[in-house]
Amino acid sequence: MPDPNLLSESSGDAPIFDQESWQLTPEQVQLTTQARELGQSKFAGRAELWDREAIFPTENYHDLDAAGFLGLCIPKSEGGIGADLKTYALVAAEIGRYCGATALTFNMHISSTLWSGDLTNDLDLTDAERESHHQHRALHYDRILNQGKIYSQPFSEGNAAAAGKMPFGTSARRMDGGWLINGKKVFASLSGHAHYYGVLATEVKAGASVRDTLYLAVPADAEGVSVVGDWDPLGMRGTVSRTLIFEDVFIPQEAQLMPPGIYHQAAVRWPHMFTTLTPTYLGIMQGAFDFMVKYLRGEVPEAPPIKRRMHGVKQVAVAQMRIMLEQSKSLWFQTMNEAQVDPSKESRLRAYATQYTVMENANEMCQLAIRTCGGHSMLKSLPLERLYRDSRCGALMLPWTAEICLDRLGRETLYEKGETDD
Ligand SMILES: Cc1cc2nc3c(=O)[nH]c(=O)nc-3n(C[C@H](O)[C@H](O)[C@H](O)COP(=O)(O)OP(=O)(O)OC[C@H]3O[C@@H](n4cnc5c(N)ncnc54)[C@H](O)[C@@H]3O)c2cc1C
Repeated sequence: MPDPNLLSESSGDAPIFDQESWQLTPEQVQLTTQARELGQSKFAGRAELWDREAIFPTENYHDLDAAGFLGLCIPKSEGGIGADLKTYALVAAEIGRYCGATALTFNMHISSTLWSGDLTNDLDLTDAERESHHQHRALHYDRILNQGKIYSQPFSEGNAAAAGKMPFGTSARRMDGGWLINGKKVFASLSGHAHYYGVLATEVKAGASVRDTLYLAVPADAEGVSVVGDWDPLGMRGTVSRTLIFEDVFIPQEAQLMPPGIYHQAAVRWPHMFTTLTPTYLGIMQGAFDFMVKYLRGEVPEAPPIKRRMHGVKQVAVAQMRIMLEQSKSLWFQTMNEAQVDPSKESRLRAYATQYTVMENANEMCQLAIRTCGGHSMLKSLPLERLYRDSRCGALMLPWTAEICLDRLGRETLYEKGETDD
């Protein structure tokens, strides 16, 4: 095991969460150190290119594969690193600090393995379901670990399905030996770049509801799959979140990432599964803060070596941002500690509060950092303006957008289950 203190010193940036204060395990220290070094040495320098050209960070994925990170949350028994949600989150935050688009797309890939791994282990399955699930997931894990395959999670359809309010419009009809998929997914990160699209679809049957959601891996090169539309957004440009069309796409039985009905059980019983987007934005928040401190100290190599730290008004702004960062980190860390099946109501509401806090504060931090650093800091030759644009996207991510978190926090604080005012 490398000495984490030596590594963090030699590699420049200090850990977002240091071992002693946050009581990380030796494995968490080793993995976050590795991620931070990768971020500093490789991802930070490339981030501008993915952003400027709106292209997928393929090179970064080669590095993630070489480091074993594609199998971060694949159970140890299946050959992966076996990281739990919290450990993944700590690693992803370090990546997000240097390249938001890489961290955000890494979330989609990792969640495919975490949900089919640790999460499903905690849910109620019959013995037969569990056995066939283990056979199916072993195929997916083998592709990832031994062939470097990447999985994505295109769920959104531009309707209320991704928010959990209606069944998915994408359909899966049972066929001999598999499923026939038809439908459309919008904002599909990694489109044209993932090898498998982990699609949520509704099983075709009478009276189908959200309980009949299937989670299926569609090979990107299957007949009937197409990527359409352009991708020229404000931020997170390297995610290449174009539109996917599925027209009579046949996929075999083993394409299942979870047995029928289990996605719905997971969404209800393992709500922290939807917090996996937050590490990216916590990383962005830290990245903006780090940049601002270096800039005010005159230590950003690409900027004039002029110190601006002596102005009292800037010191107050830095103090306020440090408070925002500490508040966000503490709440986030607590929520990651609490991630488990069947959390208490308090814990679930805290998870909404965390999602809201991290997504909104990331953007607030970036805009304050630009104001505090001044005009030069918003030039495209420096990373802060990219962090600012990327940070704006966090609050828009379903199913837990900032608005939906507010909506649930208010209602569920005031009403217990089943209560009405009639
Ligand atoms: C950079 C980026 C990458 C993305 N990658 C993916 C991906 O890989 N996979 C994927 O599935 N999706 C992805 N998304 C899509 C994202 O999760 C949302 O589906 C998308 O932003 C919704 O856009 P919309 O205009 O259709 O929003 P709408 O569905 O029209 O919602 C607009 C707003 O209304 C509010 N709202 C919506 N429904 C409700 C409700 N029931 N109650 C209260 N308020 C509500 C929300 O605040 C929402 O932000 C990505 C989005 C971005 C910006």
